[in-house]
Amino acid sequence: MDALKSKKGFICDMDGVIYHGNELLPGAREFVEWMKAENKEFLFLTNNSQRSRHELQQKVERLGITVDAMFFYTTALATARFLATQKPGGTAYVIGDAGLTNALYEAGYHFDDVEPDYVVVGETRSYSFEKIQQAINLVLKGAKLVGTNPDLLCPTNAGPIPGCGSLIAPIEYATGRKAYFMGKPNPLMIRHALRCLTCGREETVFIGDQMETDIIAGINAEVDTVLVLSGVTQEADLVKYAYRPTYVVGGVGDIIKKTDQ
Ligand SMILES: [Mg+2]
Repeated sequence: MDALKSKKGFICDMDGVIYHGNELLPGAREFVEWMKAENKEFLFLTNNSQRSRHELQQKVERLGITVDAMFFYTTALATARFLATQKPGGTAYVIGDAGLTNALYEAGYHFDDVEPDYVVVGETRSYSFEKIQQAINLVLKGAKLVGTNPDLLCPTNAGPIPGCGSLIAPIEYATGRKAYFMGKPNPLMIRHALRCLTCGREETVFIGDQMETDIIAGINAEVDTVLVLSGVTQEADLVKYAYRPTYVVGGVGDIIKKTDQ
């Protein structure tokens, strides 16, 4: 645990790690205060592409944690960065919300619903038959299909809602094309996050609550991983996997609690 506490960089998944829905998890605020006080570098990571950095900052602020918007990294930002390297100054037809459209625009992308380079899908509530129809036609005409994240469900206080993986599925089925997803478990998401920090990979840990998205992404990006049992994966689940996290703790509060004892 001392080795964990002495890491310089902390990349944290959000839901199941910092909060669950609209409730802050025990010890989360103390953990963030500890990172600030210890001058740790940190970044909050989310597979959800709906919200912008600023919206996430406000959400976390409402829960009682104050950090700058630059400490958030989303699959919308990762997807925009990925596309900007694949095809600089390209065009996209987007089914998604402000988090995604803003990120693409800031990465130098323009929006085109006639002959785009990419059809990009993210989390959104504005989803319609017409948009799916348009996306299918554009993919069949040659646009490449990209999803921000493969999650089938997103947890909300009102129960789960369809995630990007579910929203993009009709386009995949109808066109016979498989989307490329940037979000976890794709380790590229973690590699992008690492570039936002100045400390190296070996000085950084990734903290998440799901073996099949967080921990595998961290392992594949070659960073030490911390599984918190405050979210999806429970301790009894660990035997089912051929890989294991570097550390297992009840919640982020334990990282500072245990090392202080
Ligand atoms: Mg999570």
